[in-house]
Amino acid sequence: MKILITFLLFFVLKLSLVDGAALKKKVSSLESLEFMKKYGYLNSDSESASLLSEKGLDKTLKLVQKYGNIPETGFLDNATIKLMSAPRCGLPDIVRDANRQKRFVLASKGWDKRHLTYSVSNWSPRLGEGTVIRNIQKALDIWGQYGHLKFTRVGGPDADIIVKFPFDGEGSVLAHAFFPNSGIGGDIHFDDDEKWADLTNGEGNANQDGTDFFSVALHELGHSLGLQHSPVASSVMFSYYKGFDKSTSNSLDNDDILGMYELYTTKSPVLNICDGKFDSVAFLRGGFFIFKGNHIWRLKRMGYVEQGYPVTLRDMFRTLPKYIEKIDAAYERPDGMMVLFTDKTYLYKNDRFWRYNESTRALDKGYPQSMERWRGVPSHLDAVTSWNGGDLLFQGQIVLEGRH
Ligand SMILES: [Zn+2]
Repeated sequence: MKILITFLLFFVLKLSLVDGAALKKKVSSLESLEFMKKYGYLNSDSESASLLSEKGLDKTLKLVQKYGNIPETGFLDNATIKLMSAPRCGLPDIVRDANRQKRFVLASKGWDKRHLTYSVSNWSPRLGEGTVIRNIQKALDIWGQYGHLKFTRVGGPDADIIVKFPFDGEGSVLAHAFFPNSGIGGDIHFDDDEKWADLTNGEGNANQDGTDFFSVALHELGHSLGLQHSPVASSVMFSYYKGFDKSTSNSLDNDDILGMYELYTTKSPVLNICDGKFDSVAFLRGGFFIFKGNHIWRLKRMGYVEQGYPVTLRDMFRTLPKYIEKIDAAYERPDGMMVLFTDKTYLYKNDRFWRYNESTRALDKGYPQSMERWRGVPSHLDAVTSWNGGDLLFQGQIVLEGRH
């Protein structure tokens, strides 16, 4: 029976080809079937059998194409055949029972601790120990800032995340990783046969055609922290190796950051915004934001919260001093500077403000100053005003200034 199903699938896949010439390409129909099984698009014989309608196959191929950021034709066309042999991560694109409501897909609940350990048990001779450790630590630091995570390198097999090069990658697989868990959870295996290069740092392998180790490590560590593959082509969690691009290689995409927020920053009880008691609302960077306590919501339209929100004040404004626990008002200056108002440090009255020193319990010298300094702020702040179509509630007393 299994042989019959495989034969029928082969037949259907052949029928679905745009033209016969595509069959001569290096990926055959049977190999594409293996691809779809390996990366989670088909996960059982019963589901494979259900594909025996062209409609089902069309839908599955469109999903493969979506995750590869190529036109969703529903056919096994040349672009899809090429995609199926492109260098990529070895983990499935589709994880069953994942929360499909989110654009970024979460594989797990993340680690239940914020201080994690890692160890590097061996390394590619093309890179050397120092280069591997430096790149892993750098990638961990980039992820860690969005989840308040700290990483310490340790020796031995008890580390949460163990980096190894034991992996005899078949075909185009560069590396794979395990989602957060005890034991092998969090570990990363790199293909030892790959031509690794330290392109991000411009050191190491002189051969600029190599595969950038840092880019792949950043992706795999996303899995180690609980993130799944994303179809967003600009995201670090995109399944395929995108080549080395110095301008983007050191940063996460918004899609990756939202995934981290979802995993690590909303664990504390979040206040309900439906009771209407906000600290403030503001129209910033083209979006409508609600501030309440330590949390910020972004609304798509009234009553609909953007995915990934709420976030905490310090997730959004990383330089905000720790003592600030709520924002009374916020606005964006014409020059792009965001001004946040709190009731902790500054006092204002009409068009003047004073800075209050909480340790000496006295007003600082050099004040009051004129509110002219913040062009565009209404001089009477205990008021509701309108800003770019959004209602701004100015209740507080002031004043912290900083760029997002
Ligand atoms: Zn991956």
